[in-house]
Amino acid sequence: MTDLTKLTIAEAREGLKNKDYTSLELTDAFIGNIEAANAQLNAYVTVTADQAREMAKASDAKLAKGEGGALEGIPLGIKDLFATKGVHTQACSHILDGFKPPYESTVTSNLWADGAVMLGKLNMDEFAMGSSNETSYYGPVINPWRKQGSNQDLVPGGSSGGSASAVAARMCMGATATDTGGSIRQPAAFTGTVGIKPTYGRCSRWGVVAFASSLDQAGPIAHTVRDSAILLKSMASVDPKDTTSVDIEVPDYEAAIGKSVMGLKIGIPAEYRMEGMPGEIDELWQKGIEWLKDAGAEIVDIAMPHTKYALPAYYIVAPAEASSNLARYDGVRYGLRVPGKDIVEMYENTRAEGFGEEVKRRILIGTYVLSAGYYDAYYLKAQKVRTLIKRDFDLAWENGVDAILTPATPSAAFGVADQDLHSDPVKMYLNDIFTVTVNMAGLPGISVPAGLDKSGLPLGLQLIGKPFDESTLFQVGQVIEDAAGSFEPEKWWG
Ligand code: GLN
Repeated sequence: MTDLTKLTIAEAREGLKNKDYTSLELTDAFIGNIEAANAQLNAYVTVTADQAREMAKASDAKLAKGEGGALEGIPLGIKDLFATKGVHTQACSHILDGFKPPYESTVTSNLWADGAVMLGKLNMDEFAMGSSNETSYYGPVINPWRKQGSNQDLVPGGSSGGSASAVAARMCMGATATDTGGSIRQPAAFTGTVGIKPTYGRCSRWGVVAFASSLDQAGPIAHTVRDSAILLKSMASVDPKDTTSVDIEVPDYEAAIGKSVMGLKIGIPAEYRMEGMPGEIDELWQKGIEWLKDAGAEIVDIAMPHTKYALPAYYIVAPAEASSNLARYDGVRYGLRVPGKDIVEMYENTRAEGFGEEVKRRILIGTYVLSAGYYDAYYLKAQKVRTLIKRDFDLAWENGVDAILTPATPSAAFGVADQDLHSDPVKMYLNDIFTVTVNMAGLPGISVPAGLDKSGLPLGLQLIGKPFDESTLFQVGQVIEDAAGSFEPEKWWG
């Protein structure tokens, strides 16, 4: 039999319907890959093999009767940030040790209602803070990609590094992820996978551990543009439990795939050409422009003058919200408790031991920028900058632009424990330079693999869309995928 783990979700959906194989066979094949690879790649922090097999059997019973939902029998991995009832949900932080929520997040509930099978929980940066998946309490995730002729371990990006690595190494068909400043798109770009952050409000945040509530959004990582469209369709919904979720019908995203891009206006913002950016990134961008031009799209130059302020403003807004959201971890309500002589000392001991270095840094920055003397100078100013960033995009849409094309990241994947990046946290923050603007403006953005760099590592292009116009991103993303082809790492693990 062919290797079932090499199928796309769209192919498996057909195969299951035609009874070419069962969901149990499919699920077992993925569990086999996880068991073989996880010791090396560290993508999963918990594998729920028994539960997965039960879910697969239930799907097979439905499929046998010709019934079943849009994802019936499809095995997925779930980022550890999503609450899964009775199963490890710790945002990969020490402070949530042992936490098993008595409830299910809305996004995962939607997936199970459509028949998906849960393989386990995926590693991530602690509380989704990071760009390399090295801040996890469970240790770094390893990228299945390596430079040609090298055996150096590379990072898969972050914070959804477990999701990206698991998809790229065929340890699940697709995965849930979240994106506050780039955490879906940057790891997708680093691993040759597709990742979409939908419009703020498209997916419910209920049951997703909060990092920065005005920026956080859930979305999928998958092998193809079509697979990510299939997953997003199931994940998205309005939800009375999240008042920022929006009551707009979720379109049939797959219907957009294969539609011509003839006459679509694609904006190219010169401000995304950063000083010191490797020539290869610029060449890839040019290649993307040519592909879309060849497909009949109209390429227009646009101005995004506030782009350069996005990263500094993000690193004020996100830590401010994080410092407030993380105040709830006090050793009383969930997870870790480190005793002290009185309650204040218990709080202090618990938080000192429970949070990692990067999380503490964010809490310090956030508390500082929200403090009485600095609120106006930093937080309020950053909020004003945020409005200006959004206005740059609004102007582009008003001028008839349908989508914007940019690079996804300023580099390919870098080495684990890269000293250059670890010596200065701000260097790590630069990874998000092309992605944070999208979160600040609440827009949808997709990263599509577009080529390999000279050392053989994948690179991605980003498409940014109008609010709730994910369909256009899938439509244009498919054109890039068709032109670029797909990318598979050479197997050295497992
Ligand atoms: N890397 C960014 C940060 O550390 C974005 C993280 C994310 O999107 N969750 O804040």
